[in-house]
Amino acid sequence: MAAGSAIQIPTRLPLLLTHESVLLPGSTMRTSVDSPRNMQLVRSRLLKGTSLRSTIIGVIPNTSDPTSDCDDLPNLHRIGTAALAVQVVGSNWPKPHYTLLVTGLCRFQILQLLKEKPYPVAEVQQLDRLEQFTNGHKSEEELGELSEQFYKYAVQLVEMLDMSVPAVAKLRRLLDNLPREALPDILTSIIRTTNQEKLQILDAVRLEERFKMTIPLLVRQIEGLKLLQKTRKSKQDDDKRVVAIRPNRRITHGSITEDEEEEEDHDDVVMLEKKIRTSSMSEQALKVCLKEIKRLKKMPQSMPEYALTRNYLELMVELPWNKSTKDRLEIRAARIVLDNDHYAMEKLKKRVLEYLAVRQLKNNLKGPILCFVGPPGVGKTSVGRSIAKTLGREFHRIALGGVCDQSDIRGHRRTYVGSMPGRIINGLKTVGVNNPVFLLDEVDKLAKSLQGDPAAALLEVLDPEQNHSFTDHYLNVAFDLSQVLFIATANTTATIPPALLDRMEVIQVPGYTQEEKIEIAHRHLIPKQLELHGLTPQQIQIPQVTTLGIITRYTREAGVRALDRKLGAICRAVAVKVAEGQHKEAKPDRAEVGEGEDCKEHITEDAKPESISDTADLSLPPEMPILIDFHALKDILGPPMYDMEVSERLSQPGVAVGLAWTPLGGEIMFVEASRMDGEGQLTLTGQLGDVMKESAHLAISWLRSNAKRYQLTNASGSFDLLDNTDIHLHFPAGAVTKDGPSAGVTIVTCLASLFSGRLVCSDVAMTGEITLRGLVLPVSIIGEK
Ligand code: ADP
Repeated sequence: MAAGSAIQIPTRLPLLLTHESVLLPGSTMRTSVDSPRNMQLVRSRLLKGTSLRSTIIGVIPNTSDPTSDCDDLPNLHRIGTAALAVQVVGSNWPKPHYTLLVTGLCRFQILQLLKEKPYPVAEVQQLDRLEQFTNGHKSEEELGELSEQFYKYAVQLVEMLDMSVPAVAKLRRLLDNLPREALPDILTSIIRTTNQEKLQILDAVRLEERFKMTIPLLVRQIEGLKLLQKTRKSKQDDDKRVVAIRPNRRITHGSITEDEEEEEDHDDVVMLEKKIRTSSMSEQALKVCLKEIKRLKKMPQSMPEYALTRNYLELMVELPWNKSTKDRLEIRAARIVLDNDHYAMEKLKKRVLEYLAVRQLKNNLKGPILCFVGPPGVGKTSVGRSIAKTLGREFHRIALGGVCDQSDIRGHRRTYVGSMPGRIINGLKTVGVNNPVFLLDEVDKLAKSLQGDPAAALLEVLDPEQNHSFTDHYLNVAFDLSQVLFIATANTTATIPPALLDRMEVIQVPGYTQEEKIEIAHRHLIPKQLELHGLTPQQIQIPQVTTLGIITRYTREAGVRALDRKLGAICRAVAVKVAEGQHKEAKPDRAEVGEGEDCKEHITEDAKPESISDTADLSLPPEMPILIDFHALKDILGPPMYDMEVSERLSQPGVAVGLAWTPLGGEIMFVEASRMDGEGQLTLTGQLGDVMKESAHLAISWLRSNAKRYQLTNASGSFDLLDNTDIHLHFPAGAVTKDGPSAGVTIVTCLASLFSGRLVCSDVAMTGEITLRGLVLPVSIIGEK
């Protein structure tokens, strides 16, 4: 085709009806074909056609409702665009359809519909001249002012776009090269317009009209672009500001990454690395940490190991590698602190002071580990706390009761999910210094299991020769524990593993006598409880006789823990009364009913203070303290739990009281004996150990050999005690295993009482081992019993 010659479209065109958009001459459109009519057209014209002419179709915008695309051909828009089908793509999914790529050539007008089925074909008349676009040879005058104006707007619009985009640059060139009359159609299909507007442009057959209609569209687009650029600019300013802030951050942490979140995390890692480098960890630890942080940097955050490694490194940084408190050890001050905090326990305090004195002189901590052994509530933990106080050290208690896994002490290897350091390292992290006082509570209650022996792990912790390089499995590097002062507590040495016991110096902490308990209560427990409950000595008065009442009737223990609890209960009750402000006067002599001598004396002395029980009704001034007497005790604590049943049970021959030692403190133990006709059998019941059984045999033998001397006879009056007689010895509380030689004296007394028919003195309890010759061996630990 020569330049300038017009191209003719066929006079008969198959019609493609499009819903989605309006094709304008000079533009290209991709359209989906799925209606039966259009599909048929594509199949029989485009896919089978062989000539170029057969690929020219008429594209008519379907203005009718697309859903009503039934068999009848809708009213056709009269004007359409002749188009060249450039590409046909068929697909069967989700339903059979074609996708057509068509390029608009020129407008046409339908003159007459030739056939409707299977697809419409019409006789058409070409409306635009179709030129071979070579260059803009049309003279300026011909195009007129309108086209000139249009051209300016078009150039302005294109120049507002980003020229660095190749398509835009190409468009700019096209503007100059294309004939001006082609521009309205092309630009309308480029800018943002509705289908309705495009349809109007399509219908504007006259060129002048087309220019007129397109200019407002162009102006609208230009204004829109201007507005867009304005808002974009202010946003860019914001972005710049953000960027301006960020470089500082980058400088401080010395790293740059693209993604903001990643950058933050990266910053954290860099911070961590800095912390590692500045921390005072051992060389070995530093090496491991640096290696780990190198791995961490390369690791994607989504990896589970990332969090693990990070936790590990954070712990390493937090550990007090080199941080310690300064010891202020002064023996005189230590003595004062210990005396102030604890009444009695002279032996323990003396030993603790010796221990501290040696520390002061030798200035090194190697030495035996102190182990306080005694029943609960005798102040083992609290002495440990006082030691920390005198040294000015941090105190941390590690409860070992029931620990059966060595990982509890030594940590889990980091390969385990949920691995964590052991209690020693955890404790160090908690106190934040490397020289705390660690109280290993209840070392006698360590258990063994399949997970290894925690006692064995403790050996390494406690051994001064080894613990300077204690290796927790989690840390996997050595930590120096040599500055830690370990103190252990236990209820009994019997269940402490021998190897562990060997490394400790056992200090027995005996239970308290009643008198000591009273002193402890008045010097320490009551003031402490008053403070806890916000009471003052002006509001509550607990006389010593009441304390004794609590000790004997409401508690039975070697320590003072239950006593402390009961005092707490009393304080709570008084706090309620004080808060209510309605306590009433007690009748001075009412408290005498049913009470012992002590109480009477006391009440007559302090006749004025009132009782908490509110039988009387006379109000007193509020400053009068509430007196806790036996009635008040009964009101608050309920009826006495332990009555003096001893005298009752000793009201017949054949019963005696012994003293026994248990890990929980001293106990009194009854021994009962009875005799019956038989063949001289001895029956023993009450879960006795071998030693106890032997003691029983020993006692009988001695009594038989001395029967005459002490006038002991059996039921028939014979001095042969076992003649026709069976003896049954029973030790009540049959569920508890009892063993030990010192029941001997009690058994002898019990049997002597049985055979002589005389009662045993009711207020004496016995302990002691006897020999076959009747000697009573020296006894020990009376205090504990
Ligand atoms: P343990 O560790 O021996 O089981 P604790 O040290 O917990 O017992 O003591 C229990 C309570 O008894 C603590 O409040 C403690 O202050 C108090 N206590 C025990 N013995 C004495 C004492 N001799 N002087 C003062 N308070 C004591």
